[in-house]
Amino acid sequence: MKYKIYLSPPHMSGREMKYIEEAFDSNWIAPVGPNIDAFEEELCQYTGSRHALSVSSGTAALHLALLALGVGPEDIVLCQSLTFVATANPIMYVGATPVFIDSESVTWNMCPNALEDAIRHYLSIGKKPKAVIVVHLYGMPAMLREILYLCKKYEIYLIEDAAEALGSEYQGRKAGTFGDIGILSFNGNKIITTSGGGAMLSDNVKYIERARFLATQAREPVLHYEHQTVGYNYRMSNICAGIGRGQLEVVDERVRQRRANFQFYSGHLDKLQEINFQKEPIGVFSNRWLTALKISKSPTYQKSANNILNELNKNRIESRSIWKPMHLQPLYCEHKYFGNNISKELFEKGICLPSGTTLWEADIDYICNIIASNLR
Ligand SMILES: *Cc1c(COP(=O)(O)O)cnc(C)c1O
Repeated sequence: MKYKIYLSPPHMSGREMKYIEEAFDSNWIAPVGPNIDAFEEELCQYTGSRHALSVSSGTAALHLALLALGVGPEDIVLCQSLTFVATANPIMYVGATPVFIDSESVTWNMCPNALEDAIRHYLSIGKKPKAVIVVHLYGMPAMLREILYLCKKYEIYLIEDAAEALGSEYQGRKAGTFGDIGILSFNGNKIITTSGGGAMLSDNVKYIERARFLATQAREPVLHYEHQTVGYNYRMSNICAGIGRGQLEVVDERVRQRRANFQFYSGHLDKLQEINFQKEPIGVFSNRWLTALKISKSPTYQKSANNILNELNKNRIESRSIWKPMHLQPLYCEHKYFGNNISKELFEKGICLPSGTTLWEADIDYICNIIASNLR
């Protein structure tokens, strides 16, 4: 095939320019303005969160979430190991210590048993963890009921990294609204984009106001420039918020399209016993941001997964392995880890397939044929 197939390219709705033009016409070319206020309001309406703060990236939102919860040096944060590095790095920004938690094999997200082992271990040595960061990998909600139960029981804050999960639901409620704070990303590869950006969601207005203050250089509310705290320049621009508004109008359509991709892939490949997809448990609705699969039941699975990745990329089909777990990264391998190597296995056997919303069924056919012919 002649054109390159990307993993998850941006897909404009055509409604973005209207909001960008409004910004130009009213001269709100700044990190304040009407698009920002409206985008935050629309995010609340869409997710059901009481409050929202738009910022310059998902990573900034995570950093602000930790600061708003008062996480700092001496604190332990229990973080899902199988994720993108941006989940863990903000723990280092605030000088806290990340401890990594393995995945379970259904949703591939944080294993509640490993989480409880870690909590009990730290309680037994008198160091109560301050916060948990759970991720909804590739849009699949984690086992929130169990994780929320543990966070309540042991009185530990929960941050939901829903960067990949806008539009996903758990028991009818939107991902990102279960934790004390949830974060979203609008990077170019996510389900909707502002070219680059993120948001923090919370029902607690105190966290949002604290984060808004820190994101605006921590300027005290007086007429002159008065500062008592180190702040950041993390606000979203009014132009980017305009892109976000045009994108948010079609988010449900994008979710439908991503889920249709998954249906095509699984329709073609489910009959192959070597292939397992990330499972959507009952009561859970994934946006299927990326279709991800695992090669198993093959003695040479790792070779298989690598072969398939090589073959796909050789044919101008952008595909990636599953995230390499944080506890196996040179950056974090000295940190404590609790679990049973599920995330390691997913990394070794797992592949993310092109999942953009402009894919043709013929593209998926073509991709599936390459996968099937390189399985053994
Ligand atoms: C994309 C992503 C982030 C970071 O978001 P940015 O907007 O790129 O800073 C954090 N966590 C996960 C799981 C992500 O996929």
